[in-house]
Amino acid sequence: MSEKTKSEAPQEQMSFEAEVSQLMQLMIHSLYSNQEIFLRELISNGSDACDKLRFEALANNDLYDGDSELKLHVTFDEQAGTITVSDNGIGMNRDEVVANIGTIAKSGTKQFLESLTGDQKTDAKLIGQFGVGFYSAFVIAEKVVLTSRKAGDAEDAATQWTSDGSGGYTLAQASKASRGTDVVLHVKEDCKDFVNNWRLRSIIKKYSDHITFPIMMLEEVPPPAEDAEEPAPEAKFEQINAASALWTKPKSQIKTEEYEEFYKQVCQDYEAPLAWSHNKVEGTQEYTSLLYIPKKAPFDLYEASSQKNGIKLFVQRVFIMDEAEKLMPRYLRFVRGLVDSNDLPLNVSREILQDSKVIDSIRRASVQKILGMLEKMAEKEPEKFAQFWTEFGQCLKEAPGEDFANKEQVAKLYRFDTTKSSKAGEGMVSLDDYIARMQLSQDKIYYITGDSYNAASNSPHLEIFRDKGIEVLLMHDRVDEWMMSYLNEYDSKSFVSIAKGDLDLSGIGLSDAEQEAEKKAKEEKAADAEPLLKRIKAVLEKETSDVRASTRLTSSPACVVMGQQDMALHMQQLMKQAGHEVPSSQPVLEVNPDHPILELLDQEQDEDQFASWSRLLLDQALLAEGGQLDDSAGFVKRMNEMFMALHQR
Ligand code: ADP
Repeated sequence: MSEKTKSEAPQEQMSFEAEVSQLMQLMIHSLYSNQEIFLRELISNGSDACDKLRFEALANNDLYDGDSELKLHVTFDEQAGTITVSDNGIGMNRDEVVANIGTIAKSGTKQFLESLTGDQKTDAKLIGQFGVGFYSAFVIAEKVVLTSRKAGDAEDAATQWTSDGSGGYTLAQASKASRGTDVVLHVKEDCKDFVNNWRLRSIIKKYSDHITFPIMMLEEVPPPAEDAEEPAPEAKFEQINAASALWTKPKSQIKTEEYEEFYKQVCQDYEAPLAWSHNKVEGTQEYTSLLYIPKKAPFDLYEASSQKNGIKLFVQRVFIMDEAEKLMPRYLRFVRGLVDSNDLPLNVSREILQDSKVIDSIRRASVQKILGMLEKMAEKEPEKFAQFWTEFGQCLKEAPGEDFANKEQVAKLYRFDTTKSSKAGEGMVSLDDYIARMQLSQDKIYYITGDSYNAASNSPHLEIFRDKGIEVLLMHDRVDEWMMSYLNEYDSKSFVSIAKGDLDLSGIGLSDAEQEAEKKAKEEKAADAEPLLKRIKAVLEKETSDVRASTRLTSSPACVVMGQQDMALHMQQLMKQAGHEVPSSQPVLEVNPDHPILELLDQEQDEDQFASWSRLLLDQALLAEGGQLDDSAGFVKRMNEMFMALHQR
């Protein structure tokens, strides 16, 4: 804690990246009602720095340089109006200070800033999800001086970073007696109440009790009596936090608030978690896991760059690494928390984890814990589960492609909009619910995909299903089409896309005699329509793979149908926009011969007109399906011709 800037060393003036200034301003405004978290953040950084040193020292014990008692100190000076948070952790050299403090390395920062609403309450929550970190110091400080000396570096090779938070910082070489980092906050006039022994202690107890390193403060010494002969004894440092690893305590001794505070501290969330599961496993394997499901999805959950997961790995209570991605499959990357193993070696590396049997079995069991917890939540607390589903449902939908063994179990948790619900997100059903209310002799699960709820629920493909009262799942998440390519059946019932392939609904909900009559009527209709179909087919030979009488339509004139294995049109569109090659597949045009438009078409004698109307029929069916027209100008021209023709008649 004793450092000085080398007077002869030049100071270097640096500017913040634009994003840093923006974020800092926002933070200062957003956190006004929760200023005290600055201490949690600085202590958390100090604790991480100690964790890192302990880990590095496993391979190189010299790094301790005789001081292996890792600790944090919090001191204050009422007169000077300063608070200092110090650690004897790994420290930073000059380059690291520049790289870590003054830039925002987090992926997606720009998108994050763009997602802000300007509404302070909402933004404060978003900031919480983003993780406020070091910059929260400026919520109470008008100036921050960070001095850091990296473990292994010489005394005079320390770096001092000074900033008032308004656009830039200065860097200078400094001298620091011991390794680690000191952060001195020069507290703003209107925040001076933080420079207070009792206040600081209570904040540490509240947020940082479970930090595993001791957090030390000077004990309070009563002022000497006026007539005292002896000088007052010098104050000693005492430990403020319990410093016990929460997860090692028996469950029965941990209060809900403790679980919640621990989560906020360790997983850096602003809000309490939605649910958690704490497990002590003994026997052939020994480990403890404490797994949390957050309330809110982080802003970058679905970005390709955020494919990490939030599980920390400890070995015998020693922190080993963040984001041990082998511990959770990707579709559960929103799960946060930790695993503490007694079986792994302390010097375990990411490479060793790659094919560790111990890790494999912890992962299998952890997945079961999470799925079990969700199943129970779905059953006992459906509202809470609905909240979970809104935030993380799309992630779970990645499971069929990734976790073959558990796909049925995960699918049990799925919720879908259906033709029986009146609005997106209302009355969503599970697959079990769907199956329970299937029609007599229905043995398939029908679904349709679309790029929005409206596109799916207004699709002409649904007409016959609505008519027959057969429920159809409406899938409109981006991931759905992809998911369905891996999910072929559930509970031994196969999934059928109603927009693909030949549809056979005959028999569902009908008696034998009714089935027979329906079949006959269909055959007769198809025979009647044959000449018209042939004529249309001749016109649309290039654009379609077939033209046939529809069994799907009751009120629309036409629709396009993809092959059972083909990608839905709206998906093809998305893939093309993203620059992917999409194998082009020609749709089948299905027409409804009973529709007045088809009857009109049948009577059209002018072959040019007939060709033009037939094209229009295909174009509008493609549009209804979310496809894009190759020749949209041609479409408009044909539309206009049709209006003119109407006028002439
Ligand atoms: P976060 O802790 O979420 O990464 P911060 O803004 O709090 O974000 O810190 C940025 C980085 O600065 C940290 O990841 C760490 O590398 C470095 N850092 C911050 N405080 C310390 C410290 N006390 N000791 C060593 N490194 C630190």
